[in-house]
Amino acid sequence: MRIENVVKVAIALAEKGVDYQPKEGAVCPLCKQKIRVVTTKPWDDGVRIRFHRCDNDRCSIHALGIQIKSVQERK
Ligand SMILES: [Zn+2]
Repeated sequence: MRIENVVKVAIALAEKGVDYQPKEGAVCPLCKQKIRVVTTKPWDDGVRIRFHRCDNDRCSIHALGIQIKSVQERK
């Protein structure tokens, strides 16, 4: 893949977001490794948004310094 496309895909995946599971947390949409929480928003209408960073130094999302959104739904 061309580098511009890698960047576009990484940004799109990070913005689209991933599911957040209360026990497992969230994984990077690109490299599938567990990601750490940077910011946790308050509950809003049964949904909680978090922002994460990927610490995998071989991952483009990590290399670009992009934050990954996650969504937790109140069950
Ligand atoms: Zn990653």
